[in-house]
Amino acid sequence: MRVDLHLHSRFSDGLNSPTELVRMAVAKGLSAISVTDHDSLDGVNEAIGAGRESGLEVISGAELSCEFKGRDLHVLGYGVAPDDAGFEAMLKRFRETRHKRGLEIIEKLNAMGVPINAEEVIKKSGEGSLGRPHIAAVLREKGVVSTPSEAFDRYIAEGGPAYVPKYKMAPADAVRYIHAARGLAFIAHPGIFLEAIDELYTLIADGFDGIEIFHPKHNGATTRQLGAIAEEHGLLVSGGSDFHGFAGKDLPLGALDVPYELLEKIKQRLPYGE
Ligand code: AMP
Ligand code: ZN
Ligand code: FE
Ligand code: FE
Repeated sequence: MRVDLHLHSRFSDGLNSPTELVRMAVAKGLSAISVTDHDSLDGVNEAIGAGRESGLEVISGAELSCEFKGRDLHVLGYGVAPDDAGFEAMLKRFRETRHKRGLEIIEKLNAMGVPINAEEVIKKSGEGSLGRPHIAAVLREKGVVSTPSEAFDRYIAEGGPAYVPKYKMAPADAVRYIHAARGLAFIAHPGIFLEAIDELYTLIADGFDGIEIFHPKHNGATTRQLGAIAEEHGLLVSGGSDFHGFAGKDLPLGALDVPYELLEKIKQRLPYGE
């Protein structure tokens, strides 16, 4: 029995609906999934409903954008109550801040003479929260650049002429919000973010419950090392494909061999069961 506990839907930057993700997981013979959209729980109820209809277990999830030592750090929250008012209010503030920042980037582009307007980008972002990938996609569609990554290189990458930083919360705050919503907090794909293994110990002290050890960007040695550290600290482990639906760039949904046993242990530690 295998699971995939890291998936993105249209409610952030993924291409599929939560229902489609459930269908794909069923087709792959998975036993459970979590839809972990960036800074959003909006796809969770749809995923749980679709899962119920097709006999696939779905645990609620979200991937929060945090900052650690001036760098990006992602935090996964599992088992959070999808209707928790405090958590929803935090996400709403977060999205509003992000929306404003997107508009600031567009203003900077306009000031440089790049033709793009807010409505186009808002339309492109759909149900997801407005981000640089949406701006890059619109710039490509309009022929301003020939690829999205050219948009980053020329304009919106960190340090670029139209770059505006994004507000991000501290990992300890993310842990607090997740716990307040009865969920468990995991450090997402530490292999991508950490510069030294000592940083992991600093983060663990923030009150994390687990570490994502299986991830496409982790090799076998990284997964084993992270697993050993989790065990040493009595932490849970998780993993998933981080599937967004980007052809050619992503591993397929369910591509990693993540055993169901991990989810079993996560559920045992949830304060109110599943
Ligand atoms: P945002 O959340 O608006 O800051 O956008 C972050 C997203 O932009 C990342 O998750 C990547 O998908 C994408 N991104 C960041 N830097 C680059 C880059 N240099 N080239 C292409 N995509 C990028
Ligand atoms: Zn993403
Ligand atoms: Fe991530
Ligand atoms: Fe992700």
